[in-house]
Amino acid sequence: GPAEPPLVVVNAHGLPYLDPRLPVRERVADLLGRMSPREKAGQMTQAERGALRAPGDIAGYGLGSLLSGGGSAPTPNTPAAWARMTDAYQLRTRATRLQIPLLYGVDAVHGHNNVAGATIMPHNIGIGAGRDPGLAARTAAVTAKEVRATGVPWSFAPCLCVSRDERWGRAYESFGEDPALVTAMAAVIGGMQGAPDGTDLHRGDKVLTSAKHFVGDGGTAYGSSSTGSYTVDQGVTRVTRAELEAVHLAPFAEAVRRGTGTVMPSYSSLDVLGDGRGPVKMHAHAEMITGVLKGRLGFEGFVVSDWQAIDQLPGDYASDVRTSVTAGLDMIMVPAEYREFVRVLVAEVESGRVPVARVDDAVGRILTQKFRLGLFEKPYADTTHLAAVGSAAHRAVAREAVAASQVLLKNEDAVLPLRASQRVYVAGSNADDLGRQAGGWTISWQGAPGRTTTGTTILEAMRRAAPGADIAYSADASAPIGGYDAGVVVIGESPYAEGQGDVGNGHVLEPAAADLAAVDRVCGAVPCAVLVVSGRPQLLGDRLPAIDALVASWLPGTEGDGVADVLYGRRPFTGRLPVSWPASESQLPLNVGDARYAPLFPYGWGLTTLTPPPAGGAPALRAAERAVRALRAAGRAHTPEARRVVERARLLVQDRIGPRVAGSAAKPFAEADHLLVSGDPVGAVAKLREAYGVAGT
Ligand code: BGC
Repeated sequence: GPAEPPLVVVNAHGLPYLDPRLPVRERVADLLGRMSPREKAGQMTQAERGALRAPGDIAGYGLGSLLSGGGSAPTPNTPAAWARMTDAYQLRTRATRLQIPLLYGVDAVHGHNNVAGATIMPHNIGIGAGRDPGLAARTAAVTAKEVRATGVPWSFAPCLCVSRDERWGRAYESFGEDPALVTAMAAVIGGMQGAPDGTDLHRGDKVLTSAKHFVGDGGTAYGSSSTGSYTVDQGVTRVTRAELEAVHLAPFAEAVRRGTGTVMPSYSSLDVLGDGRGPVKMHAHAEMITGVLKGRLGFEGFVVSDWQAIDQLPGDYASDVRTSVTAGLDMIMVPAEYREFVRVLVAEVESGRVPVARVDDAVGRILTQKFRLGLFEKPYADTTHLAAVGSAAHRAVAREAVAASQVLLKNEDAVLPLRASQRVYVAGSNADDLGRQAGGWTISWQGAPGRTTTGTTILEAMRRAAPGADIAYSADASAPIGGYDAGVVVIGESPYAEGQGDVGNGHVLEPAAADLAAVDRVCGAVPCAVLVVSGRPQLLGDRLPAIDALVASWLPGTEGDGVADVLYGRRPFTGRLPVSWPASESQLPLNVGDARYAPLFPYGWGLTTLTPPPAGGAPALRAAERAVRALRAAGRAHTPEARRVVERARLLVQDRIGPRVAGSAAKPFAEADHLLVSGDPVGAVAKLREAYGVAGT
């Protein structure tokens, strides 16, 4: 490679951009005015730490940013080692002319998941099931605190994908299939960043967010992947303009309102039906990135590319760089050929093919976030916060989120909650495996089975919840079952990220044969509950009648105690399906609002152990209608009170529909939940009435 340029250390002290009393705008203008084209290109460059050819490249190429791709961690992988590592990289920037601090980024998509010992939250799909934006924001605040403590001021989260087809390998990174739900969950941006104007970012417990993947990542047509597999996130999203706006764009509009500091485009292409353009790669989509995101939505942060995504654009590298930067990308996650990227970008600017004004805009946006984060004043990790990583207080928040995420799909003969005195036979591959219950994006990119980090498995948590009780465990249910009072079979997926994941017996939503055999053995012998630990619905086929209680546990993360809390009735089940649960894989894509809608369990389904289901029928619904109308008239449609009224009506209807969901009642039932999340409790109750009427006939 080329020789390293000489390092020139200048004492930048006293220059206006270093004065924290000046407004950020003035500091940016001052600094920009001092920068060379090469320094500007460096700021727009993000390299992977593991791909650094020499540590001196940080200063030598004036890199603006480094990242840890999934699982890229220092050795040993401890919070303190992370802080030392990020500090050491940051120190390198002191050897540059202008001493612009480095912006380090990680995928903290469910807690600070690359770091051993960090608190691992449920994946987004479980957070969506919890239906509680406030709780979601609290989990995000915990994550932000753990991330920032290690000297990392930026996370590539949240994924605001609206997952429309659960065969997508990233379905669990989605809060759900309903844009209204995903939009509500954009509240996590507040938890991570604080105030929309960025004024909390300089605090030692907040990080920059990255709303991703803009736009339509969850809407790709099944099977149209560039790789020809289930990895459809790199395929084509074909939608009408109206569907694009209502389904995929809406959560990003909310993210901009909440002041997300960065946005990451999607690997996928967008094909807007009827516009005559055909599929356009999002990383080249000037109309969407510059026109819609930065223009119409008024996004003032910066746009960071996805990993090596510009390489997928047609043409040579110079054309990739030119196309993406002129389309509106501000920083490129190169992430390995950063030397070439800097050289090519400088050449493109010098030849006039990339306008200087575009580069100045990009660098200005990046510097604005660096100033807001206070990195010029405090570039290093504040190690006083390190003790918070994986602390008991943080794990308590995760545990609460886990309990809230559990969806009780079926509960015949009140098998759940379990009683502490019961002798329980536990089986299944996901009952006693921390790595499997955490899923992908945990310690390694793909995740892995086994004790990969610190936490409590579901089995351990059950034993803790019922001390002294006889709780046996036989993964494959080969040990004798007779004598036990109840069975709990914890089945589900093996960890994966981005790709197709576990395809079981050749089908994406089908559990492994060994798990199904365990279900058959246990449920054939004792009253049983089946917990599905997975990123998406799993199909149990004709086994369902033999299963007394069925729980969607999603990917709960490190705090198995949250699962035990609801199993043993220390907390009620309150979670609801964030996606429609299909009866067969051939029904997919299957979403609330579809014309033909015959799921096994509709969107929004979720029994509760909170209160006995409300008695009565039509009169109770009428009372709910009156109550929500009065609340709306009083301007209180968005209050917890309104939600409670609808919630009671929902339970009533759910009770009427019964454990086997009547086909035609499913649609209005699911739509009620959508309307409720959209802030329309009156509409929600009207839909519930419709479902009630259908179920009664
Ligand atoms: C994923 C992004 C992620 C990036 C960096 C990509 O493969 O699509 O979601 O932020 O890697 O790890």
